[in-house]
Amino acid sequence: MKYISTRGNSPAQTFSEILLGGLAPDGGLYLPETYPHFSETDLAAMREMNYRELAFTILSRFATDIPVADLRRIIDKTYAADVYCHVREGQSPDDITPTLKLEDGLFLLSLSNGPTLAFKDMAMQLLGNLFEYVLDKAGREINILGATSGDTGSSAEYAMRGKHNVRVFMLSPHQKMSRFQTAQMFSLQDENIFNIAIKGVFDDAQDIVKAVSNDHAFKAQHKIGAVNSINWGRVAAQIVYYFKGYFATTRSNDEQVSFSVPSGNFGNVCAGHIARMMGLPIRKLVVATNENDVLDEFFRTGIYRPRSAAQTYHTSSPSMDISKASNFERFVFDLVGRDGAKMRELWGKVDQGGAFDLNEGGYFDMIGDYGFVSGSSNHAHRMKTIRWVNEQYGVTIDTHTADGLKVAAAFREPGVPMVVLETALPAKFEEAIQEALGHAPERPEDLKGLEDLPQRFDVMDADVDAIKRFIVDHT
Ligand SMILES: *Cc1c(COP(=O)(O)O)cnc(C)c1O
Repeated sequence: MKYISTRGNSPAQTFSEILLGGLAPDGGLYLPETYPHFSETDLAAMREMNYRELAFTILSRFATDIPVADLRRIIDKTYAADVYCHVREGQSPDDITPTLKLEDGLFLLSLSNGPTLAFKDMAMQLLGNLFEYVLDKAGREINILGATSGDTGSSAEYAMRGKHNVRVFMLSPHQKMSRFQTAQMFSLQDENIFNIAIKGVFDDAQDIVKAVSNDHAFKAQHKIGAVNSINWGRVAAQIVYYFKGYFATTRSNDEQVSFSVPSGNFGNVCAGHIARMMGLPIRKLVVATNENDVLDEFFRTGIYRPRSAAQTYHTSSPSMDISKASNFERFVFDLVGRDGAKMRELWGKVDQGGAFDLNEGGYFDMIGDYGFVSGSSNHAHRMKTIRWVNEQYGVTIDTHTADGLKVAAAFREPGVPMVVLETALPAKFEEAIQEALGHAPERPEDLKGLEDLPQRFDVMDADVDAIKRFIVDHT
Protein backbone atom coordinates (compact mmCIF):
# COMPACT_ATOMS: atom_id res chain seq x y z
CA MET A 1 0.00 0.00 0.00
CA LYS A 2 1.38 3.38 -1.05
CA TYR A 3 0.25 6.82 0.08
CA ILE A 4 -0.38 9.79 -2.17
CA SER A 5 -0.95 13.49 -1.49
CA THR A 6 -4.30 15.25 -1.83
CA ARG A 7 -2.54 17.94 -3.88
CA GLY A 8 -1.31 15.37 -6.40
CA ASN A 9 2.31 16.51 -6.62
CA SER A 10 4.25 14.32 -4.18
CA PRO A 11 5.85 10.92 -4.76
CA ALA A 12 3.96 7.90 -3.39
CA GLN A 13 5.37 6.65 -0.08
CA THR A 14 4.96 3.74 2.32
CA PHE A 15 3.17 3.76 5.68
CA SER A 16 6.43 3.88 7.68
CA GLU A 17 7.77 6.69 5.51
CA ILE A 18 4.80 8.96 6.15
CA LEU A 19 4.24 7.96 9.78
CA LEU A 20 6.67 10.45 11.35
CA GLY A 21 6.01 13.34 9.01
CA GLY A 22 3.19 15.84 8.74
CA LEU A 23 2.13 17.39 5.45
CA ALA A 24 3.29 15.99 2.11
CA PRO A 25 6.02 18.07 0.40
CA ASP A 26 3.38 19.70 -1.86
CA GLY A 27 1.39 20.86 1.17
CA GLY A 28 -1.29 18.16 0.88
CA LEU A 29 -2.38 15.37 3.21
CA TYR A 30 -1.57 11.72 2.66
CA LEU A 31 -4.20 9.13 1.78
CA PRO A 32 -3.91 5.52 0.58
CA GLU A 33 -3.81 5.18 -3.22
CA THR A 34 -6.97 3.10 -2.96
CA TYR A 35 -9.08 2.07 0.03
CA PRO A 36 -8.93 -1.61 0.93
CA HIS A 37 -12.35 -3.27 0.69
CA PHE A 38 -13.95 -5.83 2.99
CA SER A 39 -16.35 -8.29 1.35
CA GLU A 40 -19.42 -9.78 3.00
CA THR A 41 -17.37 -12.86 3.88
CA ASP A 42 -14.70 -10.66 5.49
CA LEU A 43 -17.33 -8.77 7.48
CA ALA A 44 -18.93 -12.02 8.66
CA ALA A 45 -15.57 -13.17 10.05
CA MET A 46 -14.84 -9.76 11.59
CA ARG A 47 -18.13 -9.76 13.52
CA GLU A 48 -16.71 -12.36 15.91
CA MET A 49 -13.41 -10.56 16.54
CA ASN A 50 -12.28 -8.76 19.68
CA TYR A 51 -10.81 -5.24 19.43
CA ARG A 52 -7.20 -6.36 18.94
CA GLU A 53 -8.09 -8.83 16.20
CA LEU A 54 -10.22 -6.22 14.45
CA ALA A 55 -7.45 -3.65 14.71
CA PHE A 56 -4.96 -6.07 13.22
CA THR A 57 -7.30 -7.09 10.39
CA ILE A 58 -7.88 -3.45 9.44
CA LEU A 59 -4.48 -1.89 10.10
CA SER A 60 -2.54 -4.69 8.38
CA ARG A 61 -4.22 -3.53 5.14
CA PHE A 62 -2.70 -0.07 5.63
CA ALA A 63 0.69 -0.73 7.29
CA THR A 64 1.78 -3.24 4.66
CA ASP A 65 5.48 -2.50 5.14
CA ILE A 66 5.50 -3.55 8.82
CA PRO A 67 6.01 -7.31 9.27
CA VAL A 68 2.73 -8.85 10.49
CA ALA A 69 4.22 -10.36 13.65
CA ASP A 70 5.58 -6.94 14.67
CA LEU A 71 2.30 -5.18 13.90
CA ARG A 72 0.36 -7.74 15.91
CA ARG A 73 2.67 -7.29 18.91
CA ILE A 74 2.34 -3.47 18.75
CA ILE A 75 -1.45 -3.68 18.51
CA ASP A 76 -1.75 -6.22 21.37
CA LYS A 77 0.39 -4.02 23.60
CA THR A 78 -1.62 -0.87 22.70
CA TYR A 79 -5.19 -2.09 22.99
CA ALA A 80 -4.89 -3.71 26.40
CA ALA A 81 -7.47 -3.65 29.19
CA ASP A 82 -5.07 -1.92 31.61
CA VAL A 83 -4.62 1.02 29.17
CA TYR A 84 -8.35 1.61 28.54
CA CYS A 85 -9.37 1.04 32.14
CA HIS A 86 -11.69 4.03 32.82
CA VAL A 87 -14.91 2.20 31.96
CA ARG A 88 -18.33 2.72 33.52
CA GLU A 89 -19.68 0.33 36.12
CA GLY A 90 -20.85 -2.87 34.45
CA GLN A 91 -18.63 -2.42 31.38
CA SER A 92 -15.59 -4.53 30.58
CA PRO A 93 -12.23 -2.83 29.96
CA ASP A 94 -11.35 -5.73 27.66
CA ASP A 95 -13.94 -4.40 25.18
CA ILE A 96 -11.60 -1.36 24.76
CA THR A 97 -14.54 0.64 23.32
CA PRO A 98 -17.65 -0.65 25.16
CA THR A 99 -21.11 0.29 23.91
CA LEU A 100 -23.73 1.74 26.26
CA LYS A 101 -27.39 1.37 25.28
CA LEU A 102 -29.43 4.43 26.28
CA GLU A 103 -32.68 3.14 24.79
CA ASP A 104 -33.76 1.03 21.81
CA GLY A 105 -31.88 2.33 18.78
CA LEU A 106 -29.71 4.83 20.69
CA PHE A 107 -26.20 4.02 21.88
CA LEU A 108 -23.02 5.63 23.17
CA LEU A 109 -19.70 4.24 21.92
CA SER A 110 -17.22 4.85 24.75
CA LEU A 111 -13.94 6.00 23.23
CA SER A 112 -12.61 7.85 26.27
CA ASN A 113 -11.47 5.13 28.63
CA GLY A 114 -7.77 5.73 28.05
CA PRO A 115 -5.27 7.54 30.29
CA THR A 116 -6.41 11.11 29.47
CA LEU A 117 -10.18 10.44 29.34
CA ALA A 118 -10.61 11.61 25.73
CA PHE A 119 -10.93 9.72 22.44
CA LYS A 120 -7.56 10.99 21.19
CA ASP A 121 -5.94 8.25 23.29
CA MET A 122 -7.43 5.65 20.92
CA ALA A 123 -5.06 6.70 18.15
CA MET A 124 -2.27 8.39 20.08
CA GLN A 125 -1.43 5.33 22.20
CA LEU A 126 -0.92 3.34 18.99
CA LEU A 127 1.16 6.14 17.50
CA GLY A 128 3.46 6.14 20.55
CA ASN A 129 4.23 2.45 20.08
CA LEU A 130 4.53 2.76 16.27
CA PHE A 131 6.90 5.74 16.57
CA GLU A 132 9.17 3.86 18.95
CA TYR A 133 9.20 0.82 16.66
CA VAL A 134 9.93 2.73 13.44
CA LEU A 135 12.60 4.93 15.09
CA ASP A 136 14.33 1.94 16.69
CA LYS A 137 14.42 0.15 13.36
CA ALA A 138 15.85 3.15 11.50
CA GLY A 139 18.24 4.13 14.32
CA ARG A 140 16.71 7.60 14.42
CA GLU A 141 15.31 9.90 17.06
CA ILE A 142 12.67 12.61 17.08
CA ASN A 143 11.88 15.72 19.11
CA ILE A 144 8.16 16.31 19.00
CA LEU A 145 7.22 19.96 19.28
CA GLY A 146 3.59 20.87 19.80
CA ALA A 147 1.21 23.48 21.12
CA THR A 148 -1.89 22.56 23.06
CA SER A 149 -4.85 24.12 24.78
CA GLY A 150 -5.66 20.81 26.47
CA ASP A 151 -6.62 17.45 25.00
CA THR A 152 -4.07 16.89 22.23
CA GLY A 153 -1.07 17.75 24.37
CA SER A 154 -1.96 15.49 27.25
CA SER A 155 -2.86 12.64 24.93
CA ALA A 156 0.49 12.98 23.11
CA GLU A 157 2.44 13.11 26.37
CA TYR A 158 0.76 10.02 27.80
CA ALA A 159 1.43 8.19 24.53
CA MET A 160 5.10 9.16 24.29
CA ARG A 161 6.16 9.06 27.96
CA GLY A 162 9.10 6.76 28.55
CA LYS A 163 9.50 5.89 24.85
CA HIS A 164 13.08 5.65 23.65
CA ASN A 165 14.35 7.98 20.94
CA VAL A 166 11.36 10.29 21.47
CA ARG A 167 11.21 13.58 23.38
CA VAL A 168 8.15 15.80 23.66
CA PHE A 169 8.31 19.60 24.00
CA MET A 170 4.74 20.73 24.63
CA LEU A 171 3.90 24.43 24.75
CA SER A 172 0.73 25.51 26.54
CA PRO A 173 -0.66 28.92 27.50
CA HIS A 174 0.46 29.66 31.08
CA GLN A 175 -2.45 29.44 33.57
CA LYS A 176 -5.07 29.20 30.79
CA MET A 177 -5.93 25.50 30.94
CA SER A 178 -8.27 23.95 33.51
CA ARG A 179 -6.65 22.80 36.78
CA PHE A 180 -7.36 19.21 35.82
CA GLN A 181 -5.81 19.51 32.35
CA THR A 182 -2.78 21.31 33.75
CA ALA A 183 -2.28 18.71 36.46
CA GLN A 184 -2.69 15.88 33.97
CA MET A 185 0.21 17.16 31.90
CA PHE A 186 2.46 18.80 34.47
CA SER A 187 2.40 15.90 36.93
CA LEU A 188 4.28 13.70 34.46
CA GLN A 189 7.81 13.17 35.77
CA ASP A 190 9.20 11.31 32.75
CA GLU A 191 12.56 12.62 31.59
CA ASN A 192 11.54 12.69 27.92
CA ILE A 193 8.53 14.98 28.52
CA PHE A 194 9.01 18.77 28.70
CA ASN A 195 6.08 20.98 29.60
CA ILE A 196 6.65 24.61 28.67
CA ALA A 197 4.08 27.13 29.93
CA ILE A 198 4.18 30.13 27.61
CA LYS A 199 3.35 33.58 28.96
CA GLY A 200 0.59 34.28 26.45
CA VAL A 201 -2.44 32.68 24.83
CA PHE A 202 -2.73 29.47 22.80
CA ASP A 203 -2.13 31.30 19.50
CA ASP A 204 1.23 32.57 20.81
CA ALA A 205 2.25 28.99 21.53
CA GLN A 206 1.00 27.86 18.13
CA ASP A 207 2.92 30.67 16.38
CA ILE A 208 6.16 29.55 18.04
CA VAL A 209 5.65 25.99 16.78
CA LYS A 210 5.02 27.32 13.27
CA ALA A 211 8.10 29.56 13.38
CA VAL A 212 10.35 26.70 14.52
CA SER A 213 8.90 24.34 11.88
CA ASN A 214 9.47 26.95 9.17
CA ASP A 215 13.18 27.15 10.08
CA HIS A 216 14.04 24.17 7.89
CA ALA A 217 17.73 24.08 8.87
CA PHE A 218 16.92 24.02 12.59
CA LYS A 219 14.14 21.51 12.03
CA ALA A 220 16.45 19.09 10.22
CA GLN A 221 19.42 19.52 12.55
CA HIS A 222 17.38 19.00 15.71
CA LYS A 223 15.03 16.34 14.29
CA ILE A 224 11.86 18.30 15.03
CA GLY A 225 8.62 16.42 14.41
CA ALA A 226 4.94 16.69 15.25
CA VAL A 227 1.92 14.56 16.10
CA ASN A 228 -0.85 16.83 14.87
CA SER A 229 -4.33 15.82 13.85
CA ILE A 230 -3.49 15.37 10.18
CA ASN A 231 -1.15 12.45 10.92
CA TRP A 232 -2.33 9.51 8.80
CA GLY A 233 -1.56 6.96 11.53
CA ARG A 234 -4.07 8.66 13.80
CA VAL A 235 -6.83 8.59 11.20
CA ALA A 236 -6.10 4.94 10.38
CA ALA A 237 -6.28 3.87 14.04
CA GLN A 238 -9.67 5.57 14.40
CA ILE A 239 -11.22 3.50 11.61
CA VAL A 240 -11.21 0.41 13.86
CA TYR A 241 -13.81 1.55 16.39
CA TYR A 242 -16.42 2.26 13.71
CA PHE A 243 -16.28 -1.46 12.88
CA LYS A 244 -16.39 -2.36 16.58
CA GLY A 245 -19.39 -0.06 17.15
CA TYR A 246 -21.19 -1.43 14.10
CA PHE A 247 -20.86 -5.07 15.14
CA ALA A 248 -21.82 -4.27 18.75
CA THR A 249 -25.15 -2.68 17.75
CA THR A 250 -26.30 -5.03 14.97
CA ARG A 251 -26.96 -8.74 14.65
CA SER A 252 -26.34 -9.20 10.95
CA ASN A 253 -24.38 -7.45 8.23
CA ASP A 254 -27.51 -6.54 6.22
CA GLU A 255 -28.27 -3.94 8.86
CA GLN A 256 -27.14 -0.34 8.66
CA VAL A 257 -25.99 1.94 11.47
CA SER A 258 -25.68 5.74 11.68
CA PHE A 259 -22.89 7.39 13.66
CA SER A 260 -22.99 10.86 15.21
CA VAL A 261 -19.53 12.39 15.65
CA PRO A 262 -18.66 15.48 17.75
CA SER A 263 -16.36 17.20 15.27
CA GLY A 264 -13.64 19.82 15.15
CA ASN A 265 -10.72 19.07 12.85
CA PHE A 266 -12.71 16.35 11.01
CA GLY A 267 -10.19 13.65 11.97
CA ASN A 268 -12.65 11.41 13.77
CA VAL A 269 -15.49 11.55 11.24
CA CYS A 270 -12.96 11.24 8.38
CA ALA A 271 -12.12 7.81 9.79
CA GLY A 272 -15.86 7.01 9.63
CA HIS A 273 -15.93 8.08 6.00
CA ILE A 274 -13.04 5.73 5.22
CA ALA A 275 -14.70 2.85 7.13
CA ARG A 276 -17.77 3.39 4.93
CA MET A 277 -15.62 3.44 1.77
CA MET A 278 -14.11 0.13 2.95
CA GLY A 279 -17.52 -1.52 2.90
CA LEU A 280 -18.87 -1.02 6.43
CA PRO A 281 -22.68 -0.63 6.14
CA ILE A 282 -22.91 2.91 7.52
CA ARG A 283 -26.10 4.77 6.69
CA LYS A 284 -25.41 8.29 7.92
CA LEU A 285 -22.36 10.07 9.24
CA VAL A 286 -23.69 12.91 11.37
CA VAL A 287 -21.16 15.75 11.65
CA ALA A 288 -21.97 17.50 14.94
CA THR A 289 -20.33 20.86 15.60
CA ASN A 290 -20.63 23.44 18.36
CA GLU A 291 -20.92 27.20 17.70
CA ASN A 292 -17.80 26.89 15.55
CA ASP A 293 -19.88 25.57 12.70
CA VAL A 294 -17.63 25.78 9.64
CA LEU A 295 -18.32 22.10 8.90
CA ASP A 296 -22.07 22.31 9.48
CA GLU A 297 -22.18 25.25 7.10
CA PHE A 298 -20.40 23.22 4.43
CA PHE A 299 -22.63 20.16 4.72
CA ARG A 300 -25.74 22.34 4.56
CA THR A 301 -24.67 24.72 1.78
CA GLY A 302 -21.63 23.37 -0.10
CA ILE A 303 -19.61 26.42 0.88
CA TYR A 304 -16.40 25.94 2.88
CA ARG A 305 -15.52 29.17 4.65
CA PRO A 306 -12.73 28.88 7.27
CA ARG A 307 -12.95 31.48 10.02
CA SER A 308 -10.46 33.97 11.41
CA ALA A 309 -9.18 33.79 14.99
CA ALA A 310 -11.58 36.63 15.88
CA GLN A 311 -14.54 34.59 14.54
CA THR A 312 -13.54 31.49 16.51
CA TYR A 313 -15.48 31.17 19.76
CA HIS A 314 -14.33 29.75 23.08
CA THR A 315 -17.09 27.34 24.04
CA SER A 316 -17.91 24.81 26.74
CA SER A 317 -16.91 22.05 24.29
CA PRO A 318 -13.42 23.54 23.84
CA SER A 319 -11.82 20.62 21.97
CA MET A 320 -14.10 21.42 19.01
CA ASP A 321 -13.21 25.13 18.90
CA ILE A 322 -11.58 25.32 15.47
CA SER A 323 -11.40 27.93 12.73
CA LYS A 324 -10.73 25.45 9.93
CA ALA A 325 -11.03 21.67 9.79
CA SER A 326 -7.65 20.36 8.66
CA ASN A 327 -8.68 16.77 7.83
CA PHE A 328 -11.62 17.97 5.75
CA GLU A 329 -9.21 18.13 2.80
CA ARG A 330 -9.08 14.32 2.81
CA PHE A 331 -12.82 13.98 2.23
CA VAL A 332 -12.93 16.70 -0.45
CA PHE A 333 -10.18 14.82 -2.32
CA ASP A 334 -12.57 11.86 -2.61
CA LEU A 335 -15.55 14.09 -3.40
CA VAL A 336 -13.80 15.77 -6.37
CA GLY A 337 -12.79 12.40 -7.79
CA ARG A 338 -9.21 12.55 -6.42
CA ASP A 339 -8.33 15.38 -8.79
CA GLY A 340 -5.05 16.93 -7.52
CA ALA A 341 -5.29 19.98 -9.80
CA LYS A 342 -8.80 20.75 -8.53
CA MET A 343 -7.51 20.44 -4.95
CA ARG A 344 -4.66 22.87 -5.62
CA GLU A 345 -7.20 25.35 -6.97
CA LEU A 346 -9.54 24.97 -3.95
CA TRP A 347 -6.85 25.10 -1.27
CA GLY A 348 -5.09 27.90 -3.09
CA LYS A 349 -8.14 29.94 -2.06
CA VAL A 350 -8.21 28.59 1.49
CA ASP A 351 -4.50 29.18 2.05
CA GLN A 352 -5.04 32.83 1.13
CA GLY A 353 -7.78 33.16 3.70
CA GLY A 354 -10.63 32.66 1.21
CA ALA A 355 -13.53 30.23 0.78
CA PHE A 356 -14.80 27.88 -1.93
CA ASP A 357 -18.19 26.74 -3.16
CA LEU A 358 -18.60 23.12 -4.30
CA ASN A 359 -21.96 23.79 -5.92
CA GLU A 360 -19.75 24.96 -8.75
CA GLY A 361 -18.87 21.92 -10.84
CA GLY A 362 -21.80 19.96 -9.39
CA TYR A 363 -19.71 18.29 -6.67
CA PHE A 364 -22.08 19.18 -3.85
CA ASP A 365 -24.90 17.29 -5.60
CA MET A 366 -22.96 14.08 -4.90
CA ILE A 367 -22.66 14.68 -1.15
CA GLY A 368 -25.63 12.40 -0.44
CA ASP A 369 -23.68 9.44 -1.86
CA TYR A 370 -21.26 9.74 1.05
CA GLY A 371 -23.84 9.64 3.84
CA PHE A 372 -22.92 12.96 5.41
CA VAL A 373 -25.46 15.12 7.24
CA SER A 374 -24.78 17.77 9.88
CA GLY A 375 -26.01 20.06 12.61
CA SER A 376 -24.69 22.37 15.32
CA SER A 377 -25.42 23.12 18.94
CA ASN A 378 -24.75 25.78 21.54
CA HIS A 379 -24.10 26.06 25.26
CA ALA A 380 -27.79 25.97 26.22
CA HIS A 381 -28.30 22.81 24.12
CA ARG A 382 -25.35 21.14 25.83
CA MET A 383 -26.63 21.94 29.33
CA LYS A 384 -30.12 20.72 28.44
CA THR A 385 -28.80 17.52 26.84
CA ILE A 386 -26.55 16.70 29.82
CA ARG A 387 -29.52 17.17 32.18
CA TRP A 388 -31.87 15.15 29.99
CA VAL A 389 -29.47 12.20 29.63
CA ASN A 390 -28.87 12.25 33.37
CA GLU A 391 -32.58 12.27 34.23
CA GLN A 392 -33.74 9.92 31.51
CA TYR A 393 -30.98 7.28 31.59
CA GLY A 394 -29.00 7.93 34.79
CA VAL A 395 -25.85 8.50 32.73
CA THR A 396 -23.52 11.51 32.91
CA ILE A 397 -22.01 12.66 29.61
CA ASP A 398 -19.50 15.41 28.83
CA THR A 399 -20.13 18.55 26.79
CA HIS A 400 -18.64 17.24 23.50
CA THR A 401 -20.69 14.06 23.61
CA ALA A 402 -23.70 16.29 24.37
CA ASP A 403 -23.11 18.11 21.06
CA GLY A 404 -23.13 14.73 19.31
CA LEU A 405 -26.30 13.55 21.02
CA LYS A 406 -28.17 16.81 20.44
CA VAL A 407 -27.44 16.83 16.72
CA ALA A 408 -28.09 13.07 16.39
CA ALA A 409 -31.71 13.48 17.55
CA ALA A 410 -32.71 15.07 14.23
CA PHE A 411 -31.39 12.14 12.20
CA ARG A 412 -32.72 9.07 14.00
CA GLU A 413 -34.66 6.63 11.80
CA PRO A 414 -36.73 3.59 12.75
CA GLY A 415 -34.73 0.37 12.40
CA VAL A 416 -31.37 2.15 12.13
CA PRO A 417 -29.34 2.25 15.36
CA MET A 418 -27.84 5.69 16.07
CA VAL A 419 -24.42 5.39 17.69
CA VAL A 420 -23.09 8.59 19.29
CA LEU A 421 -19.34 8.64 19.78
CA GLU A 422 -18.42 9.55 23.37
CA THR A 423 -15.29 11.65 22.83
CA ALA A 424 -14.52 12.58 26.45
CA LEU A 425 -15.53 11.57 29.95
CA PRO A 426 -17.41 14.12 32.08
CA ALA A 427 -14.66 14.09 34.74
CA LYS A 428 -12.57 16.14 32.32
CA PHE A 429 -15.02 19.03 32.32
CA GLU A 430 -16.09 19.37 35.94
CA GLU A 431 -17.20 23.00 35.76
CA ALA A 432 -19.64 22.44 32.90
CA ILE A 433 -21.12 19.37 34.59
CA GLN A 434 -21.44 21.30 37.84
CA GLU A 435 -23.35 23.98 35.94
CA ALA A 436 -25.65 21.46 34.25
CA LEU A 437 -26.35 19.09 37.13
CA GLY A 438 -25.53 21.08 40.27
CA HIS A 439 -22.86 18.60 41.29
CA ALA A 440 -19.44 17.55 40.05
CA PRO A 441 -19.10 14.37 37.96
CA GLU A 442 -17.53 11.29 39.47
CA ARG A 443 -13.84 10.99 38.96
CA PRO A 444 -12.03 7.69 38.27
CA GLU A 445 -10.34 6.39 41.44
CA ASP A 446 -6.79 6.60 40.05
CA LEU A 447 -7.19 10.31 39.18
CA LYS A 448 -8.43 11.48 42.57
CA GLY A 449 -6.01 14.00 44.05
CA LEU A 450 -4.34 14.57 40.68
CA GLU A 451 -4.09 18.32 41.28
CA ASP A 452 -2.10 17.72 44.49
CA LEU A 453 0.73 15.82 42.80
CA PRO A 454 4.11 17.56 42.31
CA GLN A 455 4.30 19.32 38.93
CA ARG A 456 7.22 19.56 36.52
CA PHE A 457 7.18 22.46 34.03
CA ASP A 458 9.06 25.58 32.89
CA VAL A 459 7.48 29.01 32.44
CA MET A 460 8.91 30.90 29.45
CA ASP A 461 8.30 34.05 27.43
CA ALA A 462 6.66 33.75 24.01
CA ASP A 463 10.08 34.01 22.36
CA VAL A 464 11.03 31.73 19.46
CA ASP A 465 14.78 31.93 20.07
CA ALA A 466 14.43 31.11 23.74
CA ILE A 467 12.37 28.02 22.87
CA LYS A 468 14.94 26.92 20.31
CA ARG A 469 17.68 27.29 22.94
CA PHE A 470 15.62 25.25 25.39
CA ILE A 471 15.30 22.43 22.86
CA VAL A 472 19.01 22.50 22.07
CA ASP A 473 19.91 22.47 25.79
CA HIS A 474 17.67 19.50 26.50
CA THR A 475 18.57 17.16 23.64
C1 LIG B 1 -10.38 16.47 19.46
C2 LIG B 1 -11.75 16.29 20.05
C3 LIG B 1 -12.92 16.37 19.25
C4 LIG B 1 -12.89 16.69 17.78
O1 LIG B 1 -12.34 15.65 17.02
P1 LIG B 1 -11.83 15.94 15.52
O2 LIG B 1 -11.14 14.69 15.12
O3 LIG B 1 -10.87 17.11 15.64
O4 LIG B 1 -13.01 16.26 14.70
C5 LIG B 1 -14.15 16.15 19.87
N1 LIG B 1 -14.24 15.89 21.18
C6 LIG B 1 -13.15 15.82 21.98
C7 LIG B 1 -13.32 15.56 23.43
C8 LIG B 1 -11.86 16.01 21.45
O5 LIG B 1 -10.78 15.94 22.25
